[in-house]
Amino acid sequence: MKHILPIVLFFSFQWLSAQVFDVETIKNSGNNDKRINLVILSEGYQASELAQFKTDAINFTNAMFNQSPFKEYTNYFNVHIIKVPSNESGADHPGTATDVTEPASPILNVDTYFNATYDSYGKHRLLYYEIDGFSSNNTQAKIMDVLATNFPTYDQALILVNSSEYGGSGGMFPMAYRGFWGNKVIMHELGHSLFNLKDEYYPGDILAAEAINMTQETDPISIRWKNWLGVNGVGIYQYTCTTGNCADWYKPHQNCIMESIDKSFCSVCKEGMVEKIHSLISPINSYTPISNSITSPTFPVDFQLNLINPIPNTLKSTWTLNASNFANDVDNISLTESDLNTGANTLTVAITDATTLLKVDNHDAFHVYTVTWDIDNSALGIKDITSNIANYNIAMYPNPTNTFLNFKFESDVDNTLKVDIIGLDGKRIKTITISNFQTNQVDISDFSTGIYLTNFYSKNILIASKKLVKN
Ligand SMILES: [Zn+2]
Repeated sequence: MKHILPIVLFFSFQWLSAQVFDVETIKNSGNNDKRINLVILSEGYQASELAQFKTDAINFTNAMFNQSPFKEYTNYFNVHIIKVPSNESGADHPGTATDVTEPASPILNVDTYFNATYDSYGKHRLLYYEIDGFSSNNTQAKIMDVLATNFPTYDQALILVNSSEYGGSGGMFPMAYRGFWGNKVIMHELGHSLFNLKDEYYPGDILAAEAINMTQETDPISIRWKNWLGVNGVGIYQYTCTTGNCADWYKPHQNCIMESIDKSFCSVCKEGMVEKIHSLISPINSYTPISNSITSPTFPVDFQLNLINPIPNTLKSTWTLNASNFANDVDNISLTESDLNTGANTLTVAITDATTLLKVDNHDAFHVYTVTWDIDNSALGIKDITSNIANYNIAMYPNPTNTFLNFKFESDVDNTLKVDIIGLDGKRIKTITISNFQTNQVDISDFSTGIYLTNFYSKNILIASKKLVKN
């Protein structure tokens, strides 16, 4: 996936001497354009220690991708390292912390590329790069310059520090020591920087906000993680502390890595992360045929998807030919002459993720990815095939509901979708047309209580089905 660097960066900092460093890919799941690219920069490793940096970065990456949901979506990520040499090893430790009796560790002052230092802002374990101040040291600009020169299409960069003493920090570029807990520190920080999660310890009034895993809502009917209540330890837990407006805020779990790094991500955080991965990366890596790649097609014609599979593979595919279901949950199909009409034919495959990490059945928003092939079939055989790819983000909420139901969708190709609401007896109760980027509201108060199916159609092709509960 391409990360677009702000244009201003190139104007503001082009005076900095752009140093070219050795870049190596240590985890390659596929083409960088189709993956989330994590980039690890070295700090406090001398040139002679860069082989050790690579080993540390590989161990760090392996530990991280052994944890859910990175583990399940490992194929969606590439990891690269930029080998930035420092003049000396380690990180500064000035002995100026106010939360311990100093000197709590040997005092160190070393010459390193990004000037990492412990005791930042008076905290012994706060290992950070910006303690000299944004303007005087300009380390953040220096990091951005290294990235712009060496790996400009990064999605998230982080810094691995050559120190065995526990420490780390978050922000734009998470930083961690190279020891055992380093990868957990980084995962917690990526929770913030890549996945928009909040701390599940009270982060203070300034950082308190409505988010995936933080809310002021206490009603179990409308709280954003309502689908998870009572599952895997998810509940509505008041933040515990004595300062500020802490008592107004609630979190979904009491054992989440967003509270304490010796824990794992809770179900609510995992769901938010999987949603984010789906919004960044399409599971369709490639497909064939692409438009007009077949010059003189003969039967049978093969249509093939190359998908980025989660582990275990939870992707579901629905193939539709001329508005009729043709096949399900296969990556390729073959069409014979008798399958096609003379003239125009439309073949569509829609991909969704049925992972249990998402509460799919009654989840508010879901992603659908489609490939459509228009096949022009004459009496003399196929004249040509054109293809289109599309992504949809569809939301249907609240669900369950007893009065109003809202539909929202975002698509790069369709301005409208048709929605059929169908009873369990197969009868169509209501058909509506919903518009892109708008909230489309439907009153279903006259529906009988029970379960319905909502079918979403793009140009009369079924792309998704979701369960709706009227209560
Ligand atoms: Zn959580």
